[in-house]
Amino acid sequence: MKGPFESCWIFLSHSLRVLYSPPRRPFGQCRMCTTLNTFSEKDRQQGLVRQALCGIVEQVRQTCVQCGRGDDIPRIVAVSKTKPPSMIMEAYDAGHRHFGENYVQELVEKAATLPKDIQWHFIGHLQSNKVKRLLDVDNLWIVETVDRAEVADALERQCVRVGRSSFNIYLQVNTSNEETKSGCSASQVVDLARRILETCPHLSLKGLMTIGRPDVSQVVQDFETLKLCRDKVEKECQQSNLELSMGMSNDWKEAVVMGSNNIRIGSALFGERQRKK
Ligand SMILES: *Cc1c(COP(=O)(O)O)cnc(C)c1O
Repeated sequence: MKGPFESCWIFLSHSLRVLYSPPRRPFGQCRMCTTLNTFSEKDRQQGLVRQALCGIVEQVRQTCVQCGRGDDIPRIVAVSKTKPPSMIMEAYDAGHRHFGENYVQELVEKAATLPKDIQWHFIGHLQSNKVKRLLDVDNLWIVETVDRAEVADALERQCVRVGRSSFNIYLQVNTSNEETKSGCSASQVVDLARRILETCPHLSLKGLMTIGRPDVSQVVQDFETLKLCRDKVEKECQQSNLELSMGMSNDWKEAVVMGSNNIRIGSALFGERQRKK
C-alpha cells in the first residue's frame, strides 16, 4: 500500500512533468520557490504547502540519484517558524512528521495543540533556563543546537527529571566563525563531544549541525568543515554513523551532494517569512 504522501508525489511529479517542464534555475534554487511566492498566504493554505512538499521530496530524490547516493535520502525537516498551525497540518496530512522551530515559546505552544506524533526539532539558540520548558514537550525529537557544556548539562538534568533515557542532540558548529552565529568553533567540537559523552549519559549524540553562509560560493567550504569535524569526532570519540544536519532552502542541493543527512527547509516549503520586528 502506498501512503497518501507517496501517491501524492507520484501523481504530482507525473502531472508536473506533463504540464510543466521547469526552466533551468541556478544550482541550488528550488523550482517551487518562485511559484510559491507568487501566491498569497491564503492560497498557500489551500493545497500549496502539499504541492511544495511533494516538489521538494521529488527533487531531493532526484538529486540523490544523480549524485550517486541512490535511495540514501536525507530527512527533510519542515521549518515552520512564524507559520500558522494550519500550514503545518497541511504538510502533516500529506504524511510529513519532522518539523523544526527556533523559539522555545513557539515550539511549546504549537506542540500543545498539534498531533503528538509530530517529531519536533529545536533549531534555535538555546538558553539553559529555557531547557526545562522545552523538555516538557514529550514529542520533542531532537535539539540540533547544543553548542556548549552548560546547555548539555541542563538537558541532561531535565532528561533525568522527565525520564527520557536517550535524548537526541546535534552539536552546532559555527563553521564560518561569524560572530553573530551560535555554535562552538570547529576546534572545540571534539572536546565538547567528549565532555558530553563522558558526563551526560541520558543524551544521545546523533551528529553535527551547521548553518552555512548565505553566499552559495562559500557555503561549500562550511559544509566541508562540518564533514571534517564529523570525521574527527567519530575517530577521536569512537563514534560511528554520526549525521550531518546541513542545507536550507537556498543550499540544500549542495548539502545533499556533500552528504547531508538532515536538511532544514523553511521558505521553500511555507513561503517567505515576514521579517521579525
Ligand atoms: C529558519 C531556519 C532554517 C530554514 O531556513 P529557510 O532558508 O527558510 O529554508 C533552517 N535552519 C535554521 C537553523 C533556521 O533557523
